Amino acid sequence: MKYAIFSNGKIDVDKSLFLKKGFKLDERNPEVVFSFGGDGTMLKAIHKYEDILDKVKFVGINGGTLGFFTSFEKEELDYTLDMIINNKLIDNEFSLLEYEINNEKKGLAVNEIAITNPIHTQIIDVFINEKLLETFRGTGFLVSPPSGSTAYNKSLGGSVIDPSLKAFQLTEIASINNRVYKTIASPIILSQKNKVVLVPKNNSNIYISVDGESLNIKDVKEIKCSLSDKKIIILSHYSDDFWQRLKRAFI
Ligand code: NAP
Ligand code: MN
Repeated sequence: MKYAIFSNGKIDVDKSLFLKKGFKLDERNPEVVFSFGGDGTMLKAIHKYEDILDKVKFVGINGGTLGFFTSFEKEELDYTLDMIINNKLIDNEFSLLEYEINNEKKGLAVNEIAITNPIHTQIIDVFINEKLLETFRGTGFLVSPPSGSTAYNKSLGGSVIDPSLKAFQLTEIASINNRVYKTIASPIILSQKNKVVLVPKNNSNIYISVDGESLNIKDVKEIKCSLSDKKIIILSHYSDDFWQRLKRAFI
């Protein structure tokens, strides 16, 4: 089996163990990518292999942080490799979010795309399927697929979404709601047939980030979001399903 390692650099990885079990290192076309680190490391590993997501599965080996995406400890590597060889792990599938900015910059998000303005009141027209829903005033928005629902989205009071649902979520960041300004003021969960377009009305100090990385786009005119047909597969032990991981991480 062809594999690659993506590490946060803080964990010593014993490659001889992979060799002993018959794994062959192939950085370009791996069948399994081992992420050594926490969720941040897993997010980076996924983006590195963004172009071959249909051919690759991810395994998270935790490095001592929260590791919501990781199901294994580094001491269990031997056992984890045996489980992979014997096909004993389950596929956890997550649909990704697709975004397009100014009709040019396209990409995928695992956790979210975040549009924020920490300095000025950000005004954003929100369109769902080309119809105006509201003119938002506040700090910004998050748009996240189910895999990101337990991340930043959750801190904003967004819902945890069952990853088997083909849905995505639009979550407000500090909307202004008063006699003059109005928004829906609650997270919205949309099905795959919907398209959300966010049109910022004032452009200074607006920041766009995807999965914790800044996109550095100066003149943001329009952000289109929808649920992609692309998905990621993260392997876990059969007893460590989404709900068990949720419990372990948060309760
Ligand atoms: P980080 O500051 O280490 O991430 C914040 C925490 O979120 C960490 O405990 C991280 O786990 C955890 N996390 C990441 N993705 C998760 C997921 N899908 N479900 C549950 N927990 C998750 O930064 P990072 O590791 O580079 O991660 C980037 C992410 O941080 C962004 O995509 C965004 O979702 C999140 N974030 C959250 C806030 C907030 O809640 N106020 C603000 C900014 C960014 P690990 O420790 O294992 O990495
Ligand atoms: Mn982290």
